Amino acid sequence: MRKLRAIVLMTGLSALMVAPAGAFTDPTNSDIAPYTALSGAPMDAIKQAMETTHLGLSLRVDPKSKSIAGIARYTVQALSELNAVEFDLDPRFKITSISIDGVELGLSEWRNDGGKLIIDLPNAVGEAGYVDVQISYGGQPRIAPNAPWDGGFVWAKTPAGQDWVATAVQGTGCDLFWPCLDHPTKRVGMLDLSVTVPAPLVVAANGRLSGVEHNGEWSTYRWQAKYPNDYGVSLQIGPYETVSTDYKSRHGNSYPITFWHLPGHHDQATRLVGEMEDYLDFFESKIGPYPFGNEKVGVVETPHKGMEHQTINAYGNKFVLSAEGYDELMQHEFSHEYFANQLTGKRVADLWLHEGLGTYMQPLYLDWKDGRMAYNAKMSDLRKRIVSKVPVAPAVEVQSTLYDDREKGWGGDIYYKGAWIAHTLRYLVGDEAFFRSLTRLVYGRATPKPGNFGHQVASTDDFQRIVEEEYGSELDWFFNTYLREAELPKLSVTRSGSRLSLVWDTVSEDTFAMPVEIRIEGDVQTVAMPEGHATVTLPFVDAHVTVDPYSKVLRENEAIAAWRSQEAADRQKKQAK
Ligand SMILES: [Zn+2]
Repeated sequence: MRKLRAIVLMTGLSALMVAPAGAFTDPTNSDIAPYTALSGAPMDAIKQAMETTHLGLSLRVDPKSKSIAGIARYTVQALSELNAVEFDLDPRFKITSISIDGVELGLSEWRNDGGKLIIDLPNAVGEAGYVDVQISYGGQPRIAPNAPWDGGFVWAKTPAGQDWVATAVQGTGCDLFWPCLDHPTKRVGMLDLSVTVPAPLVVAANGRLSGVEHNGEWSTYRWQAKYPNDYGVSLQIGPYETVSTDYKSRHGNSYPITFWHLPGHHDQATRLVGEMEDYLDFFESKIGPYPFGNEKVGVVETPHKGMEHQTINAYGNKFVLSAEGYDELMQHEFSHEYFANQLTGKRVADLWLHEGLGTYMQPLYLDWKDGRMAYNAKMSDLRKRIVSKVPVAPAVEVQSTLYDDREKGWGGDIYYKGAWIAHTLRYLVGDEAFFRSLTRLVYGRATPKPGNFGHQVASTDDFQRIVEEEYGSELDWFFNTYLREAELPKLSVTRSGSRLSLVWDTVSEDTFAMPVEIRIEGDVQTVAMPEGHATVTLPFVDAHVTVDPYSKVLRENEAIAAWRSQEAADRQKKQAK
């Protein structure tokens, strides 16, 4: 997901900068059960013991009554003995029946306590055994208060007045519209999604389209997706038309790029499909094969801003042009096919692997496309937004609400600081080790080819181990300082005569061994700092020195800190008016 930019509201003569109305769903909201509002919460024993190998999910979506009716048919494999199965499902839905292996259960055999549906099994299922579970349910799903940040259903109308429906549930979870295991490590092995909508509306969803049936006033679209990211499963319904091209990959395979757009947007969609071909060449050359080449690259125009739904990226950026010559939001969302959908962070605390590495793909792409100036300009912009209030990847697990907390939370750090950590890491270990590490993180192997890799789940610790192997040296000092502590490292620079002293100051106990480039009267040299400090002899007392002249190292910057406090004070003053 893309971080919400501050919104400018014009009210009379004064322009107010207002805070985002809320990123992820606040569990204290009165319109949602607290358990449903959370996503990725620690799993209990039942959930841990469940593997959902297949889900047939049939949904009938009725825009007129803003309601859905669903049947979820699960095949569950027991990882250890199961006496009950469990799903997350928003308790606002009425469950009409539940069957186990084809036999309907009595009402006393299941309960949905505040969104946690527990179903007692008539017979225990032993380790590695299977059980079929069918859940029929329906009702009015939560309407997203502020999609895609505070999620649910979006019931909109196109400019021509036709129904235009979308779902966006990241951070709140799949349980907002289907019974699921709302945890990043619990994906469905194969999803057969069948969505029935009033004709002539079209359904764009995850994976491959396996069939369309028209039945009087209703149409059914059948989609099949392998191992979809839970929050990536989404419905987009509208009077869509498509632009499509067959992309020939540098890795030898080919697959369709398809854009579902509203009528009248053919030319803009065609332009973005062309841009998408550039993104693919960039990602496939820098990281590796497009992870879902057996399915498709999909983009769909949505009433909300955007979301990284697997193989069907939501696009709501209104086809705006940028001075950089690309659609930054679309490129960012596309990066999540690699960093989120193919590689999934193990914990909420590892979200920076999605957002930080995903954000770093924009300056990297600009460098690939236009050169170093474009890269530097973007990095400079990102640097000014770093907050450093809490660690980017806390050692202890956190809740998804940390995302949203401007006072005690990340601010935008999992994006901007995450990207800067990647930038600094790349400088430290060099391009070869850096890009090999990214490839191994994303695919679990150094030489991915279409068909030779599966979905990956990894933590920040896993990433550290990979980088250490590629770099050939331990990097606790780097990962602890940048990711597990909040405060940025400070470089104190002092001069005494012709002696220049450099000393790293960090919160972490580890010796911060970051080398620094310095430019003395135009000559650049790298100062190794294995002990966290160094002394350099200058050619003469008044020699002009520039520290880190190419801004390769993320560190405390007093000018930015002072500028940020001024900005904050100005904002408060304006808000008080
Ligand atoms: Zn994102």
